[in-house]
Amino acid sequence: MTKVVLEENLQKLNEIMGGFSDSPISHFINGERVAASDGATFSNFSPIDEALIGEVAAGTTDDIVKACRAAENASNDWAAIPGKKRREILHAIADAIEENAEQLALVESYDTGQPLRFMSKAAIRGAENFRFFADMAPAARDGSALPTQEHMNYSIRQPIGPVGIITPWNTPFMLSTWKIAPALAAGCTVVHKPAEWSPCSASMLVEIMHEVGLPAGVVNTVHGIGEVAGKALTEHEAIKAIAFVGESSTGSAIMKQGADSLTRVHFELGGKNPVIVFDDADLDRALDAVVFMIYSLNGERCTSSSRLLVQSTIAGEFIARVRERVSLLKLGHPLDPDTEVGPLIHKKHREKVVSYFDLADKEGATIAIGGKSTDLDGQGYFVEPTLFTDAKPSMRIAQEEIFGPVLTAIEFADEAEAVSIANGVRYGLAAYVWTNDSGRGIRLARDLEVGMVWVNSENNRHLPSPFGGMKASGIGRDGGDYSFDFYMETKNICIATNEHTIPKLGRI
Ligand code: NAD
Repeated sequence: MTKVVLEENLQKLNEIMGGFSDSPISHFINGERVAASDGATFSNFSPIDEALIGEVAAGTTDDIVKACRAAENASNDWAAIPGKKRREILHAIADAIEENAEQLALVESYDTGQPLRFMSKAAIRGAENFRFFADMAPAARDGSALPTQEHMNYSIRQPIGPVGIITPWNTPFMLSTWKIAPALAAGCTVVHKPAEWSPCSASMLVEIMHEVGLPAGVVNTVHGIGEVAGKALTEHEAIKAIAFVGESSTGSAIMKQGADSLTRVHFELGGKNPVIVFDDADLDRALDAVVFMIYSLNGERCTSSSRLLVQSTIAGEFIARVRERVSLLKLGHPLDPDTEVGPLIHKKHREKVVSYFDLADKEGATIAIGGKSTDLDGQGYFVEPTLFTDAKPSMRIAQEEIFGPVLTAIEFADEAEAVSIANGVRYGLAAYVWTNDSGRGIRLARDLEVGMVWVNSENNRHLPSPFGGMKASGIGRDGGDYSFDFYMETKNICIATNEHTIPKLGRI
């Protein structure tokens, strides 16, 4: 049965991909598809069968300049459109995403290697992002009234202007919509630079947006290499803010690149997130969540629970149960609806993940299961879902973001040690706590140095809630009104009631 569905999905994909192979994936600037200024392209391969998906326009500085000009020219008109009209346009985009959800999910899966079971939800979540921020558009400019005895202060918010959005490859469609939707709702125009390893869904998104009536120049997509097209975008003076999702080291580079123009930045960066399991927890639910949060999305997930901190009283039994579940994970073709773990995004990324298998050995940890690269009928950038045990908090496998289906298990004795190990990394994105002691849950939520804590839950998103990290995991928060704080300027206006005394200088 699943073989039949896989065949059907492959057939559908072939029909969609026919359109891609006709011509290279181009930029989309000022409402039109355009090639790179020098005609250069780079090749994009599928991580599943290593087949060439197609050539992609390799953005140059000139292309970025053109896109930034288009965004700048469209900026005043887009900002002047009433919020209600922006709401209408964003809802129309959401409708169109839903209509194309199956195609988007199939393409995303083929381009990234992410299993379709997750990508079908990511496409729908992309539509939700547009709907959520569409409904916030009419009130985006609202501020507050702050009266004093002799003055009336009130604030208003105004779109910051053209923004640059730079996204990674792990869930490219969902993340692009998560950034573009609030920018548009706020009244900003956009230049988007998608990740070079997963360009397809960004091209589909920008075309969908224009088909439903987004004015030319409001969103411009320039493909290309980060150090060329991405860098030029961060340095362009028309760009007032950069929303970036990616590695912490790239975030540092972007901050330096934008320093001269004092460009505002918002960073969603890497993580080495702990899931802390106490012996008083509901261990069956904890087990489901632990396995889901590291082995879903191929472990290529910023909020993955990549460190299992487990209380020593239950460590032996709990780790054995995790190991058993890992042994049962279904590795396979991402378009097979049964597949739970697919191939990693790229040959180079697989090399990085595999290097941690060697390192685990060298550092004296145990590879309890997995620990090898593998393939499907001789193809694909697969690695075995892996569990490291006997790890010490100071080991690199316990400190560095591996970004694959690899879990490092570490034992702790008590609450104080759990907090100390959890906080003993440079990252601070998310943490998960499993305990039936509510006071302990509240204490840990307070003491963990992370931007988001889930107690007795896997990652569960509520779009108005703040999303983001502390330490090397990020700067700023997204979600609800937090997104508008970034994409808008808050202006205070102070008007006198003509009752106060003005200091008098230069009088006798
Ligand atoms: P990356 O930093 O290598 O690349 C991200 C984007 O930045 C790409 O589009 C790339 O082309 C561009 N880029 C690279 N160098 C640049 C430069 N000098 N100037 C401007 N742009 C540049 O990240 P990746 O490998 O694509 O993605 C994986 C990383 O993303 C992981 O660390 C993961 O944790 C992180 N991530 C974080 C979140 C979050 O919300 N915190 C979400 C998803 C992914």
